[in-house]
Amino acid sequence: MKITIIHWFRNDLRLHDNAALYQACQDAHLVLPVFILDLASMATLPDINVPRAGGHRMRFLLESLADLRHNLRQKGSDLLIRTGDPRQVLAELVGQHQASAVYAGQEATPEEVGLEEQVQQALQPIGAQLKLFWMLSLYHPDDLPFGVSEVPDAYRDFRKGCEKQATVRDEVPMPVLPALPDIAVGRLPTMKDLGLTAPRTDERAAIHFVGGETAALHRVATYFWERDQLRNYKHTRNQLIGEDYSSKFSAWLANGCLSPRRVYWEVRRYEQERKKNVSTYWLIFELIWRDYFRFQAARQGHRIFLARGPRNVSTIGWEKDADLFAQWAAGQTGIPFVDANMRELNATGFMSNRGRQNVASLLLHRGEKPDLSVWWPWGAAYLESLLIDYDPASNWGNWNMVAEVGADAHGDRYFNIYTQATRYDPQGEYVKRWCPELQHVPADKLHLLSLNSARELASWGVELGITYPFPLVDPLKWTRRNSPHEQD
Ligand SMILES: Cc1cc2nc3c(=O)[nH]c(=O)nc-3n(C[C@H](O)[C@H](O)[C@H](O)COP(=O)(O)OP(=O)(O)OC[C@H]3O[C@@H](n4cnc5c(N)ncnc54)[C@H](O)[C@@H]3O)c2cc1C
Repeated sequence: MKITIIHWFRNDLRLHDNAALYQACQDAHLVLPVFILDLASMATLPDINVPRAGGHRMRFLLESLADLRHNLRQKGSDLLIRTGDPRQVLAELVGQHQASAVYAGQEATPEEVGLEEQVQQALQPIGAQLKLFWMLSLYHPDDLPFGVSEVPDAYRDFRKGCEKQATVRDEVPMPVLPALPDIAVGRLPTMKDLGLTAPRTDERAAIHFVGGETAALHRVATYFWERDQLRNYKHTRNQLIGEDYSSKFSAWLANGCLSPRRVYWEVRRYEQERKKNVSTYWLIFELIWRDYFRFQAARQGHRIFLARGPRNVSTIGWEKDADLFAQWAAGQTGIPFVDANMRELNATGFMSNRGRQNVASLLLHRGEKPDLSVWWPWGAAYLESLLIDYDPASNWGNWNMVAEVGADAHGDRYFNIYTQATRYDPQGEYVKRWCPELQHVPADKLHLLSLNSARELASWGVELGITYPFPLVDPLKWTRRNSPHEQD
């Protein structure tokens, strides 16, 4: 009897190192690869009124799907594209093609895990099973020295456990795909079909991101091998301008266009063929952060999405102030370093890690170290809508960290924005790139803009409240000797 298996593509939009797709091709005579655009993912986020997946994210996803379809076609197969409720679509496909199973990547966050259970229930009565394969992280959960319910609170302990007692598995081989029968594959929707406006390309962007496995592998080749940037990664990763400062792998990793194991094994090859140093170590160190947030998400469930977080911290002091939030989101706080970062995010769907830490810190700090004291889940939801590299575990996990509600209670997460700005943008190039109205302000006057006299400001073409906002917090506090603790 001919065996048919459906491969349900989720956050694994690639052919390389795809355990579920590979296994489907081993187990079946016919494999139907399908992606289902779930309209629930397009819903509007409550309170802040933005789509869950905004224009930048959707553009990247559609590009990734187009590339996946192209690569599948090159291998004699194709990508079926359907829109709707995955439970219904999968059950229909199983019925139409007498499939015995659906294979897919396993997720770690509650909504996605809940969907897996519902799909399982929808398939059971029609005699098919859902088989899940873990592909989300660098380390496989079966190889960790702790179970998911015992994942250490502190990143440091998690990392040490991984480094000392776990090994990274080899990639699975490329699948050999059986040809598809005559079947309606479905049209890839356009941004317009989805009611979204395609974002304009902004020449100031750090890099022009294109979704898909092809672009992902090209980026690995360029960043590691052609531009030789891995060599200095640890020292450049906190810069703010241009394509070389950090790997920019995150969006491809988040959509599964790039396997974290591919990155790992390329780093190991680089170490053998070029150089092994603190930078090659550090890229893996950062990938382990990514794993940490995934395994924390699996352990903590819905708690990472709550304002009180996994540690059940009091939410007193966080206000749902829509005006302050709107100014923060628009890059109109009057704090140039934060505004530049928010404007980059709005224009491109990307922001550096340094930027993310600072904008989050300014939005949420309250109580003894008050900045805007705004309800932090709004900030996380805003980034969810905008970031092309959005993934629930990394985004909400990092917000948990900055809000100090996450499992890892170590360290003070307050950022002195002035110190940060002078350290990471000493010449003000980054701020001026995104806040052109400040282009004539001398670098040493830029990061404490509002402390200059009206006359000086006027000589640089700036009038507070007219050409650039008054600051929402008084930056003077960041200059005092006992100013709030600063981060590296
Ligand atoms: C408030 C906030 C929200 C964030 N939201 C996301 C998100 O939705 N998706 C996302 O991938 N990252 C998120 N990050 C983490 C980090 O900012 C990005 O992964 C990084 O900026 C992506 O750029 P890169 O690929 O050049 O990183 P690199 O410095 O080149 O790092 C290599 C890879 O390591 C991983 N990584 C690095 N730092 C972190 C980190 N702190 N947490 C988790 N993984 C990390 C990423 O996969 C990244 O691609 C967030 C950080 C903060 C502070």
